[in-house]
Amino acid sequence: MATKPQLVLVVEDEASIASFVAAYLKNAGYAVRTTATGAEALKLVASEKPALVVLDLMLPDMDGVEVCKRIRQSTDMPVLMLTARDEDVDKIIGLEVGADDYMTKPFNPRELVSRVRAVLRRASGMPGGGHVLAVGNVSLDPARHEVRVGDTVVTLRAKEFELLEAFCRQPGLVLTRDKLLEDVWGFAYPGETRTVDVHVKQLRDKLVGADAKIETVWGVGYKLVKPTETP
Ligand code: CA
Repeated sequence: MATKPQLVLVVEDEASIASFVAAYLKNAGYAVRTTATGAEALKLVASEKPALVVLDLMLPDMDGVEVCKRIRQSTDMPVLMLTARDEDVDKIIGLEVGADDYMTKPFNPRELVSRVRAVLRRASGMPGGGHVLAVGNVSLDPARHEVRVGDTVVTLRAKEFELLEAFCRQPGLVLTRDKLLEDVWGFAYPGETRTVDVHVKQLRDKLVGADAKIETVWGVGYKLVKPTETP
């Protein structure tokens, strides 16, 4: 199915950062527009209706927070904020500003691309918008928000679903508790890794009859093991 590439607007006044972010996003299949100012960003948001905005916090003409608030006044288009290390991230992704996610500079551009993808996936509740992920007899449909073990539909809570999705996207790989916290809960709560343990236990209890297993890797984290990999 040939679809038009989704447009990502990159708002960043540091030309070198703007160009490498644009290059990585293009390489990942997105169409990209860049601008260095908040004022032009707001115009482009209105005229081009991008699928997502990557927004630097420190712009020459306007505060990125202000730009984000103004975007929020007219649309719920996803915003991924680029911040400096000492910013109050709770505020940025909280209700006050309303960004969907944030990354702290300096960041890994590959990770930025995967965050963009994740935010867009969350934002598009469109039927058929996501591929069904299957590991063993466990299948997860991101678009329908549905999990099955064999033919049986399993009811999961939102965080359990996102946790299982993280496992299903990287079967066989060990995911650390910190990584899972960041992927599923949005950002790291230091010392809150027990949250992950509790949710993994709930997932295991609910996935009755699954032949793919969430294994504990002691001292590291968890991995989802396909039935063929089980000794
Ligand atoms: Ca800047």
